Amino acid sequence: MAVELKTGRMPQVERVREHLLALKEQQTEPVCAYIRDVTALVAHVHQRVQSMPESSQLFYAIKANSEEEVLQALAPVVHGFEVASLGEIVKVRQISADIPILFGGPGKTEAELQGAIEHKVRLIHVESMHELNKLNEIASQNDVRVSVLLRINLKGPLPQATLAMGGRPTQFGIDEVMLPHVMNQIRHLPHIQVGGFHFHSLSNNLDAEQHVKLVEYYCTIARDWARQYGFTLRYLNAGGGIGVNYAHLEQQFDWNTFVDGITPVLEKELPPETTLLFECGRYLTASSGYYATEVLDVKVNHSKTYVIVRGGTHHFRLPVSWQHSHPFELIEVEGWMHPYDRPEVKEAAYTVAGQLCTPKDILASDITSGRVRAGDILLFHFAGAYGWAISHHDFLSHPHPQHIYLQ
Ligand SMILES: *Cc1c(COP(=O)(O)O)cnc(C)c1O
Repeated sequence: MAVELKTGRMPQVERVREHLLALKEQQTEPVCAYIRDVTALVAHVHQRVQSMPESSQLFYAIKANSEEEVLQALAPVVHGFEVASLGEIVKVRQISADIPILFGGPGKTEAELQGAIEHKVRLIHVESMHELNKLNEIASQNDVRVSVLLRINLKGPLPQATLAMGGRPTQFGIDEVMLPHVMNQIRHLPHIQVGGFHFHSLSNNLDAEQHVKLVEYYCTIARDWARQYGFTLRYLNAGGGIGVNYAHLEQQFDWNTFVDGITPVLEKELPPETTLLFECGRYLTASSGYYATEVLDVKVNHSKTYVIVRGGTHHFRLPVSWQHSHPFELIEVEGWMHPYDRPEVKEAAYTVAGQLCTPKDILASDITSGRVRAGDILLFHFAGAYGWAISHHDFLSHPHPQHIYLQ
């Protein structure tokens, strides 16, 4: 029935397909749904946590997908959550009163810092000297000492990836050249306790060996700085940034190579009193999420073929944000109930567009995968991270997709 994508995870996808075909039978409205395979999500993350070296912990960066069901499912599995706003702190605390929270992000307001203290955030990632001063003052008013990690934007050079937050000028972290000044100033901030360093330098890195080198670099530089400035390195946060290969689904980040690579590095380079933290988003939630959408129309316009689907980039902004064709499979739906012709494209290349009134509403371009007909369903894979979460849902006021959680 379906045009198979080479993903190496067929049984799990089969369940999603069956669910969609059942949905199509039950309803008259065109299919449009996000599906999260919660079983697969938990299995994936659990395996990653279990296989990590003793000295490291895995947090989930919830901005990738902060749906309550996802947080509920992951809370018992991960070591904690990484958040980037007071809103995210509140979301986490709504599902757990005590799960460890790491709080980062540039431009934190006084209310956010106050909220972080009230909600018992474990570590605040401080991004500037001004933020340290502000936090010290708020901590003083609360009569507490706050544990922080200093987020440092390293000089580099760092490995290449889709998005770079460090090793070049960005709004993130404290410039490495400022560190001596900052460490000197911190001596005058009695309500700040420096627990270590935070580096989140890139996103969507696909190369496990490069990632090992990056972690090794972080370990040596953090250890040297702790020694130089005379404090105990309790934590080193190596950020997130493990990627998803959207272009070749069968070639994903090689987790085993990564774990095998960092194990001896940590034994050698990480001080015994230090815990290495990871705060991954995309890598944890992307693979178990799907966006399914029914074909509404097929037409040729100025010699190009367009397949128009129910939904679009207002539900799933990732492909347009990254300027890529998002991988999908076709689920053929038999049976056409209407007295008029069923439009289709057979051999020609086609572009998949949504319902928005903008030529930018494109999910995939110049696809050659055989026949597609109105009423068929396109199932976009690896849609569980930075999909719904980053989209402009109410632009044009079309209905939202259904949100389905397969347990
Ligand atoms: C977004 C973000 C993450 C998660 O990044 P992924 O690329 O999704 O793993 C981790 N840490 C910080 C500080 C972030 O901003």
